[in-house]
Amino acid sequence: MTPTTNASAPSGIVLNIQRYCSHDGPGIRTNVFLKGCSLRCKWCGNPESIAFKPELSYDPRKCTGKKACGVCLKAPFPEGGFYVVEGADDTIHVNWDLAGDCDEALASLCPTGALEMFGKRMTADEVLAEVEKDASIYRSTGGGITLSGGECLLQPDFSAALLKGAHERGMNTAIETACNVPWKFLEQVLPHVDTMLHDHKLTNTERHKKWTGVGNERVLANFKKAYETFPDIDFVARTPLIPGINADEEHIRAVLAFIRPHKNVIDYELLPYHRFGLGKYLSLGVVYELDDYKTPSDDLVKHLQAIIDEAFGRTGGTR
Ligand code: SF4
Repeated sequence: MTPTTNASAPSGIVLNIQRYCSHDGPGIRTNVFLKGCSLRCKWCGNPESIAFKPELSYDPRKCTGKKACGVCLKAPFPEGGFYVVEGADDTIHVNWDLAGDCDEALASLCPTGALEMFGKRMTADEVLAEVEKDASIYRSTGGGITLSGGECLLQPDFSAALLKGAHERGMNTAIETACNVPWKFLEQVLPHVDTMLHDHKLTNTERHKKWTGVGNERVLANFKKAYETFPDIDFVARTPLIPGINADEEHIRAVLAFIRPHKNVIDYELLPYHRFGLGKYLSLGVVYELDDYKTPSDDLVKHLQAIIDEAFGRTGGTR
């Protein structure tokens, strides 16, 4: 299941490296998104991060069509992987079952960038060289590197090597995780972590299974064990807030009851649901199932935030 590694030169599948981030740990940070996830959250805003391997994407807005180009309709592209509908215009369609095996070399033949790969293999040294470009900003803001995904803990050798290397270079380290992984992966990575941002998606296990594909027993057991085993880590709980799924007082209060006994859980953040990932579903030929769900209103977010602030002793609008 894990695509890593070789102990002497750890490498992994990286989706994206994003500089100048300010929401995923202290200071200004570089977020490194790793590919591969063990959940299938129906609201996922990064569907291109779910598969472990690099995968093809197609953006019809960049495609100039059969008459102007048509490169993907011929060999060496897989026969039938790309097609036009006879009698219609020359718009290119994708048969994902046949085109899914295209690799970087094939995608690079597309002259407009309509065909691209999501993700590539990189070594830890290559990633750290990129992250280190902003070392002076980290020093002045207390920032550093944040590993995200996908689920970064599913590439434990690679993640541990990245975070250890970042510490050796004087950077703050953070991970963003849903913790649906074997405990031994946490045990391997957490010694190199300063801040762990972790998702409390749903507290009821049946509902967790309905909306993410798995129950939450292992997730909650991992959270609790992590709080107790690593007292020096700053833990920040988070909830992606989706009206009709978990944007209610019952869930927020259940999460607070779970985290507040643990003093190293220093905050609980709400991440209002958005639909920015819709275009990526289209590019991958994947159906988006949450079409009828709306973003939460400002009033609802403020109401739930006030409950959290009160629980953390911040009543009076100190946030
Ligand atoms: S190679 Fe790219 S631009 Fe050309 S027809 Fe195919 S998808 Fe469109």
